[in-house]
Amino acid sequence: MTDVRRWEVPGRVNLIGEHLDYNGGPVLPIAIDRSLTVKVRARDDDTVNVWSNLPGSTKATFSTGVQPGEVDDWAAYAAGMVWSLVQDGHHFPGSDVVVESRLASGSGLSSSAALTCGIGVAFDELFGLGLDRTRIAQLAQRSESDFVGAPVGMMDQLAVLQGQAGHAILMDTSMSPPTTTPVPVTWEDDGLTLLVINTRAHHALADGEYAARREECERAAAELGVEWLSEATLDATVRLTDDILKARTRHVLTETARVRGAVHAIKRRSWVQLGTILTASHASLRDDFQVSCLELDVAVEAALEAGAVGARMTGGGFGGSAIALLPLDTVAAVRERVEARYASHQWPAPEIFVAHAADGAHRVA
Ligand code: ADP
Ligand code: MG
Repeated sequence: MTDVRRWEVPGRVNLIGEHLDYNGGPVLPIAIDRSLTVKVRARDDDTVNVWSNLPGSTKATFSTGVQPGEVDDWAAYAAGMVWSLVQDGHHFPGSDVVVESRLASGSGLSSSAALTCGIGVAFDELFGLGLDRTRIAQLAQRSESDFVGAPVGMMDQLAVLQGQAGHAILMDTSMSPPTTTPVPVTWEDDGLTLLVINTRAHHALADGEYAARREECERAAAELGVEWLSEATLDATVRLTDDILKARTRHVLTETARVRGAVHAIKRRSWVQLGTILTASHASLRDDFQVSCLELDVAVEAALEAGAVGARMTGGGFGGSAIALLPLDTVAAVRERVEARYASHQWPAPEIFVAHAADGAHRVA
């Protein structure tokens, strides 16, 4: 192809601050050095063609005037971003788009935001749309919530767009759009590393339970008379009458405190303390927010048994990935322990890899 440009977009893991991005709380994701590539060439016939290496996908074609409901399945993410850009008043002639992803889809590493934001950045730069990264994140979120029909916050989009090598990104999701502050992460200087364990589990209840948690949090906030549940005072769990809402609120409030603690621990390079906080986050997600699953719990337990200083599920839950913070010299032991535990359950082998904090979406050719 002539005049083909190529962009690389990282996936992300959320270090801590889970299910807070729709509760106005702080979140602390990291863009990772595992990515998705978007190759784009301009066309002049108002047509968009998209090819992807996603298993089972075939070429999708739609016009730049595409509307919600006209494209479904994986291509809805690409069509949704085109729709969102056009809705925002931008004009462009059409294009051929080739997506090559190294991010396992649906595993909590944000392949969806990498795809929508990759197209956003590519079209912005190729067609000179003059968008800034926050705006691209907003448009990508709109494409996922209003076109694809997945109600998501803005954490993933901002993480894959604004990531910085060697940094986590602290976001205040009570602001619209969320504000972002880079936080240097230096555990590698002290001989530790971050391991991602993709359980490869996808439990069918994930979407329905995610919507249910959002609704429960909204109900709790309304009952407590606060705009954001993360802003409730600690007596909230006493004031609420419903046990489920109490537990959800307890997670949101303690997780909010844990993010602040994690940032302090990172600044002081107190890795054992950070690890303890990560593991406590997992317990809260498992017991109070009830979004974990056996595959995630086993991954976390096995990692801790084999030497991790902390571990937790990351992302929405009911499958997807876990992360572990661990001394570099325990990586092999943790990997073996997790694999052995998975084999004993007769589950598919998990995908396990070391992750480094990486730069956000950028053009590479
Ligand atoms: P996650 O973002 O954690 O990977 P989601 O469920 O939000 O999980 O997004 C997964 C969806 O994104 C897939 O079902 C698919 O529709 C789309 N997707 C992911 N990777 C690709 C890809 N390489 N090509 C096309 N679509 C993709
Ligand atoms: Mg996603």
